[in-house]
Amino acid sequence: MQDDRLMMTGYRDEDRESDLSLRPKNLREYIGQDAVKDNLSIYIKAALKRRDALDHILLYGPPGLGKTTLATIVAAEMGQNIRVTSGPAIDRPGDLAAILTNLNAGDILFIDEIHRLSRAVEEVLYPAMEDFALDIMIGKGPTARSMRLDLPHFTLVGATTRAGQLSAPLRDRFGMLFRLELYTPEELAQIVKRSSSILGMPAEEEGIIEIARRSRGTPRIANRMLKRVRDYAQVRADGKITREVANEGLNLLEVDGLGLDKVDRNVLSTMIDKFSGGPVGLDTLAASTGEDALTIEDVYEPFLLQLGFIQRTPRGRVVTRAAYEHLGRMMPATDLETNEPQVSFFDEDK
Ligand code: ADP
Repeated sequence: MQDDRLMMTGYRDEDRESDLSLRPKNLREYIGQDAVKDNLSIYIKAALKRRDALDHILLYGPPGLGKTTLATIVAAEMGQNIRVTSGPAIDRPGDLAAILTNLNAGDILFIDEIHRLSRAVEEVLYPAMEDFALDIMIGKGPTARSMRLDLPHFTLVGATTRAGQLSAPLRDRFGMLFRLELYTPEELAQIVKRSSSILGMPAEEEGIIEIARRSRGTPRIANRMLKRVRDYAQVRADGKITREVANEGLNLLEVDGLGLDKVDRNVLSTMIDKFSGGPVGLDTLAASTGEDALTIEDVYEPFLLQLGFIQRTPRGRVVTRAAYEHLGRMMPATDLETNEPQVSFFDEDK
């Protein structure tokens, strides 16, 4: 199970050590996501010049790409404090009201997994984001009246893996929406290089590239792999991360040359074996692989799409020729334009 857990992009306790030391602390140290960084740095400079709070920011994209890191960087660049919480942690409207009334002007409030806020909690957030106000009810029944409390001008930074699941009124209240993309192998190599030097691990360029190539576009996985390879290097080699050491260490984790793990391969072979390569719907795929549909959509699919191993069509997901080739499988004859299996004349007789 070790290896499965390695690939899960969600936050785990083992990440805590590296999060503290490896998290970039300012925009300059934050590697990649250039479009997001360029925009943010302009808005931050402008807000600082106006001595105003920054507009609310929504960050979205797969887990482990640096949303939390970016929120802490925004706070640092603005010279403000950050308060971190998450959608599932805010149970009742009163919990959110308590958080909001404790903020100071300029503070950054980071809500991870913001798509999981309940409707009732979301409704407290609307006037807070728009008018910096909190509406509270005093009394009950016919004598009840509502009172408006002023809140300090704060900045909400929301993070979500799925912008589409956010309600429209909530999404509309963010002034800036940024989508984080999977990292390129070159960017990941820079991240691995930086991490290995912070952690004091001797590493050759080729070893770094090997780890970067296999970390499925995700800095969190790259850092985790680096630590596993370090363990391997210390036990089986002389502690130095070379290409061979990285290769052997990662093979042990059953991560293949492109970074696919057992679950990725299972998803692809299920599509090939049980559905003739697709199209297959997400829920059907989840049921036949025993994986959670949301996990497939948030974690596995983005990387398989980036590799060009699957395509999304209106009728479902389809496995591409590149995936067949990578798995060493024969692709049935298809019409290359549509990727639809050719209808055999004999089919009609069945
Ligand atoms: P998310 O909130 O999107 O799940 P995190 O912000 O927790 O992701 O990032 C996961 C880890 O990856 C962090 O501990 C950080 O060390 C590393 N990381 C993320 N983005 C970058 C980046 N652009 N440059 C360097 N390291 C990064």
